Amino acid sequence: MNLFKTLALLLFAGPLFSQTAINFEIDVTKNTDTFYVSVDLEKQLSKENNIYQFAATAPGTYQTQNIGRFISDFKAFNKKGKEIKVTYKAPNQYIISKPHKVKSINYKVAETFDTEVESYPVYMMCGSSIENDHALINTHTMLGYFEGLQSNPLKIKVTGQEGWKTGTALESKDGYYLANSFDHAVDSPILTGNLTYAETQVADTPIRIFTYSEKGKYTSEALLENMKDMLAASNKFLIKLPVENYTFLYYFLQNPDGQTGAWEHSYSSEYVLTENEPTDANMKQVTDIASHEFFHIVTPLNIHSEIIESFNFVEPTPSQHLWLYEGVTEWASNILLYRGGVVDFDAYIKNSIRQKIIINENYFDKSWSLERLAKESFNEDGAKQYGNIYYKGALVAGYLDIRLLELSDGKRGLRELMLELVDKYGKGRPISEKGFFKDLVQMTYPEIGDFIHDYIQNAEPLPNKEYLGKIGLNYSGNGKSIEIRKMVNPTDKQLMLFEAWSKNL
Ligand SMILES: [Zn+2]
Repeated sequence: MNLFKTLALLLFAGPLFSQTAINFEIDVTKNTDTFYVSVDLEKQLSKENNIYQFAATAPGTYQTQNIGRFISDFKAFNKKGKEIKVTYKAPNQYIISKPHKVKSINYKVAETFDTEVESYPVYMMCGSSIENDHALINTHTMLGYFEGLQSNPLKIKVTGQEGWKTGTALESKDGYYLANSFDHAVDSPILTGNLTYAETQVADTPIRIFTYSEKGKYTSEALLENMKDMLAASNKFLIKLPVENYTFLYYFLQNPDGQTGAWEHSYSSEYVLTENEPTDANMKQVTDIASHEFFHIVTPLNIHSEIIESFNFVEPTPSQHLWLYEGVTEWASNILLYRGGVVDFDAYIKNSIRQKIIINENYFDKSWSLERLAKESFNEDGAKQYGNIYYKGALVAGYLDIRLLELSDGKRGLRELMLELVDKYGKGRPISEKGFFKDLVQMTYPEIGDFIHDYIQNAEPLPNKEYLGKIGLNYSGNGKSIEIRKMVNPTDKQLMLFEAWSKNL
């Protein structure tokens, strides 16, 4: 790299942060399977900064990833270019013998897409890839931090091909993307290559879309057109979007070799999906996923416990409130479309209740509570059950909504409670990992304590018939043939609760 240019730019730009940033350069032009990363230090490390740490996991993935597995040729140098001894400590650490002498570090990173691993494959939307016409950079798959410097700012330069477009929520200045901490960098994926671009505004919030599509079947313009109603419905549900800008990064592949899906961040989300035909049904599916990821700006990105707030990249540490982060998010992202008129009653019942009941009943181990799903997602058995958080977790959130509506005579459901939580908590004001259930009961009713005990902390059979009955819906059948219909003669109370359930109060 060109050290002179870096220094000249820095002098020109003046101080960017109160602390001296650590400079990273990611070169994606040397090889189509390997990232070349270099780290340049302007300020001397201290003896305590002797570990260079790669991520064991990352926020919102609930998955063990051990990024150290993908690193090779890790070398540290002093200012004269002489090598300094480093020792690899599996799975994710490099111990530097004389940290105070280190001026630069170079290493290679194998892309996660094309690298075989024996266990714990990294979800594609959390991974990395380079091809001739693009690169996907989830920063935690290639950057690390020095022990004690997790909250130090970073400057990240991505060297790609001429003419490539780059999408990320990070601000850029003088050719560098700026992150105010390692956590902030991890929160900000970068997609670069032959991308299409589109933008819009929801209320005052600029929304940007970048898309890589292998055969060009999906464009940012078409995706945006399909997302407009969802974005408007989200805005209505939340009253005001709690972000000042937002970026969608889409990546469509003909034959994805791994788990596809999407990953949420504070100001962006990253999607790795199969590039099938962009029919109405497939477009709708993409929008449904986007609705889910977008709602994550509420939780866990704003409402989360101290375990998420000061994230442990060394040792995966579960939070028992996964039911909130993923279950409530899945419920909200579905019901906001119904309440916003984007999907009708029949479609909502079919896709967001009936289908979820069938999957929970038939495809997962029902004896796992939502709390157990949370606590064990990082081990291999837990990883197999984790997916049920999107089914059972969403159903439990939906029944919590119905219970709250019932107890408040149709005045305050889960949406209204979530809006109160948004006011009360947020970044820098985490919920209490241990005390949150008690706080929730205090904010609501003693009966909510029983609900939490039965359906979140324990795995009582879900009360499908009883709870749907409260809003005048008749539930019948079992196994894979289930029917949910409006009752012919609902009571006044059932009608009142159905009305309340159908709208943003
Ligand atoms: Zn999610």
